[in-house]
Amino acid sequence: MVKREDYVDLVFRDVKVDEHNAPRFYLDGEEVNIWDEPYIYYHSRSPADYVREHIVHCEEKGVDPFPSVIGKHREKELVKTALMSGSAILFKGFKGYGKTTFSKAIAQLLPSKLLTIKGCKINDDPTHPICFSCKRKLTEEDKVELTWVPRVWVRIPGDPMMTTRQLIGGISIQKIREGYDLDHPEVFIPGRALKANRGVGYFDELGAIPSQLQTLLHELIEEGQVTTTEGEIVPLKVDSLVIAATNPANYRGTNPIKEPLLDRMEVIEIGPPETLEEEVEIGVKNMFIVREKGENPYIPPWHARVLARIVRIARDKDRYDIARRITSEPSCRATIKLFDHVRSSALRDGRRAPLLKDYGPSYDHVKLALLGRMEVSYEVKDRKEEMIERLVEEALNISLRELYNAIPQENFDEFLKALKASAISNYRIPISLDFVEKLKAEKAIREVVCKLLPEASENDEYFLSAVEMVLEALSRCTNLIKREGESYLFKDLGVGGVEAGVQTMRG
Ligand SMILES: [Zn+2]
Repeated sequence: MVKREDYVDLVFRDVKVDEHNAPRFYLDGEEVNIWDEPYIYYHSRSPADYVREHIVHCEEKGVDPFPSVIGKHREKELVKTALMSGSAILFKGFKGYGKTTFSKAIAQLLPSKLLTIKGCKINDDPTHPICFSCKRKLTEEDKVELTWVPRVWVRIPGDPMMTTRQLIGGISIQKIREGYDLDHPEVFIPGRALKANRGVGYFDELGAIPSQLQTLLHELIEEGQVTTTEGEIVPLKVDSLVIAATNPANYRGTNPIKEPLLDRMEVIEIGPPETLEEEVEIGVKNMFIVREKGENPYIPPWHARVLARIVRIARDKDRYDIARRITSEPSCRATIKLFDHVRSSALRDGRRAPLLKDYGPSYDHVKLALLGRMEVSYEVKDRKEEMIERLVEEALNISLRELYNAIPQENFDEFLKALKASAISNYRIPISLDFVEKLKAEKAIREVVCKLLPEASENDEYFLSAVEMVLEALSRCTNLIKREGESYLFKDLGVGGVEAGVQTMRG
């Protein structure tokens, strides 16, 4: 019979085994030598070791260790350096710019599974456990069962109401003295920070963790110990990669991060995507139907660019007056939802590819994605919807001006003639799938549209959508045609009017 005091000693003892003094290990009922292939790689190493090894391997091969993070080249370099130096990382940036995605990408550098002692609440290493009951198993038993755990990524959400129990857990030496078993929940229940052992602990909104808990966290990470509520200092050499995130200071009531904690982290700023192309890629990859259903996004690039631009204009305070009135800018989540809503509108109408009408009457579908995701300054509070309409107009104008300017000069007249030839009564071109065949039959239309927007050739819906964009460009940049309902109408400009109309507008 082991005395209680021996268990208390065990709690404070560093228990480590090697191939010479280890008990017999069993995996799925069979005895295994964990110092042999194929097990040797999956224990006795810290997450920092795995990550450094993986990064070096990627550097040698010249591949990106974070393929799931789009763009962010400079940030990736900083993350690699910080990880190689064994540093914790604090991502600083507004919500929706991929801080969580980045932390998951870092976890991908860990092996997909690890060997652990079966039943352990904190994925203990079979050679160097930190929890009391695993220490007991290794020292007292001659057969110890092991199991695999998938790679560990634990999100620890910052919450001002968070308790010690939630963050660190319940640890009581007193209960052992009183005769409780080492496995008893009153003796040891790990909190989230301990569950991240041997993996990534992702502290989302670190600043929102109450400051006295930040002190405990610092003790745990830096000293590998915790102070129990009874005042006893218990060693818990948790080994995890600490990745934290915070919004920039003073943003929506976020508390500052305590100095000692901040002092042991490398701060890396995570901003919006640098280019329109990256914004589009993030948007498409994260659309509901793509991510959840694995379906084709069916969002033609010309619409993706307009929609992503709406969001980017809202952020661009250097260039746009309207952006200066936006106090909280829309993130990539706004872009993603914009893609989703426009695509959903098309789907509800029995189409796959969106048309301009899918932006909604008065751009309602754009508003649905943006209204809750941006805040405007007090004096324009009651004009938020109108501001969104202006953002859409601005994005359309820029995109369609680009499109118009790309129409090859030498094909322009022929293109117009072909459009007129395909039009039905009153020089009307309906934006309808029934009409695609007729438009496609005109060589000049086919050539110009597919030259401007190559994806138009993929299918009839894309072709119609592309034609609509070109016609809309003509209607915005010339006074040759105008939109009326679901059609474009040639204006009657009289003799020589077409040339005059083009010349006045074409830059
Ligand atoms: Zn354990």
